[in-house]
Amino acid sequence: KRAKESGRSEVYQPAAFTIARAQFAMETELRHAVEEKRLRLHYQPICDLASGRITKFEALARWRTQDGREISPTEFIPVAEESGLIVPLGRWAIEEAASTLAGWDRAAGGNSGVRMAVNLSAIQLQRDTVVDVIERTLTAAGLTGDRFTLELTESVMVSDPDRIADTMLALKGLGATLALDDFGTGYSNLAYLQKLPIDILKIDRSFVTGMLADRDKLAIVRAILGLAQALGMRTTAEGVETIELGQTLGALGCNYGQGYVYARPLDAAAAWSMLAERNA
Ligand code: C2E
Ligand code: CA
Ligand code: CA
Ligand code: CA
Repeated sequence: KRAKESGRSEVYQPAAFTIARAQFAMETELRHAVEEKRLRLHYQPICDLASGRITKFEALARWRTQDGREISPTEFIPVAEESGLIVPLGRWAIEEAASTLAGWDRAAGGNSGVRMAVNLSAIQLQRDTVVDVIERTLTAAGLTGDRFTLELTESVMVSDPDRIADTMLALKGLGATLALDDFGTGYSNLAYLQKLPIDILKIDRSFVTGMLADRDKLAIVRAILGLAQALGMRTTAEGVETIELGQTLGALGCNYGQGYVYARPLDAAAAWSMLAERNA
């Protein structure tokens, strides 16, 4: 009764309301951060398991709020997707990743020999402008399309599969490589694998972590590797945290590995140093 009289939210506050308000506060803060280009990208190497060379870096968004809190992309990317902010955020990530790669090429005095992988959300892919944005960004940075990999998740398939297939073909037309991210965690309809021009399957970390001690996980990883081979796709294992895991995955025929055993996501300068050292 007191709550009603004072109307003070601290006195009576349903949990759902609190959560909605926190979401909205994060959305507002994120909008400003995107507008003012206060997000950063970190870059995590992806290594060829046979040669140990770095073939690619995955660009991962980082956000430190103005009061100094580091917020995980697992928190702010869903907020960006629900609010539509993923479109300007994603566009910024494409431009920033291209500019970093062009910088590495200049520092190498030519082609630095690595590619850049950028995450594309299903919402971005549904916009027909995404192909244009990528094409114009690459041209402006002086990069050819084959230097970019686009990582998509299985959630792209929930919307119009034919249209998505067209957009993916247009991205392939630029010369880009397409990777299916978090494979095995999403929608279980495998029919789309035949229909879509996917080059690489990324095996989700949840199957890789602990696969040496868990026969079921190992069986799933083997099955995904077999499926990819049969369909002529290459494979990247996520979450490679030990040398032994990398060796086993390589022996099983997995092409690439990504994980803390090689490096955590690094800022551009540290990623460049690692590249110069490892691939020298
Ligand atoms: P993801 O695309 O699956 O990226 C890999 C995540 O696994 C990254 O988390 C990376 O830091 C983490 N990781 C890499 N190696 C290891 C390992 O050995 N062990 C463990 N435990 N984790 C490892 P991060 O950076 O927190 O990103 C989380 C997710 O946020 C990404 O998952 C991706 O879905 C999304 N994301 C990040 N940046 C962007 C972006 O620019 N655009 C979009 N659409 N999504 C993004
Ligand atoms: Ca990814
Ligand atoms: Ca992934
Ligand atoms: Ca994952």
